[in-house]
Amino acid sequence: MRRMPPERIPPATEIMPGWTYEGVAKWVCGQDVQVVAYGNPMEAGAAFLARDGKPIIRMYRGILRLPKDIQLIILLHEAWHCHQWTDDIDHSLWTIVENEQDADVHAADMACSLGFDGLRLDAESYPAMGMPIDAPDKDHGTPRERVANVRAKAINCQHRLQAS
Ligand SMILES: [Zn+2]
Repeated sequence: MRRMPPERIPPATEIMPGWTYEGVAKWVCGQDVQVVAYGNPMEAGAAFLARDGKPIIRMYRGILRLPKDIQLIILLHEAWHCHQWTDDIDHSLWTIVENEQDADVHAADMACSLGFDGLRLDAESYPAMGMPIDAPDKDHGTPRERVANVRAKAINCQHRLQAS
């Protein structure tokens, strides 16, 4: 398929009421982040990168068709990578899986703190991106492992579980 150029998601586009994509990213990262629509509409995924010292989050165009709350948990995960990048904590000694699962846990935690069901969104995000529950992934762990890790560690979401 034809390669489409990345384009900034219009800064006024809301991902939840009163919150824009770049507003969420800045809230998590602590600095301005450009959030761009990337790839072709068949590609699903998201990525954080820094170019010339400036943070960018790529939301692949396949993701932008998903329900906004699923997009939100994916955006929160990438924004947490931005936070890791700006953080004083040296994450370089962490394994890739540790960095990824740290982002998973914080994404769910932040979603729960914003009033969403972060555990549900985490669990639903993998099939929404076309990832089978036991799909091997050496950088992230399988979705099954990721969901179990988030359930065990997302403190703000555990509170919700106990309350229900
Ligand atoms: Zn990640």
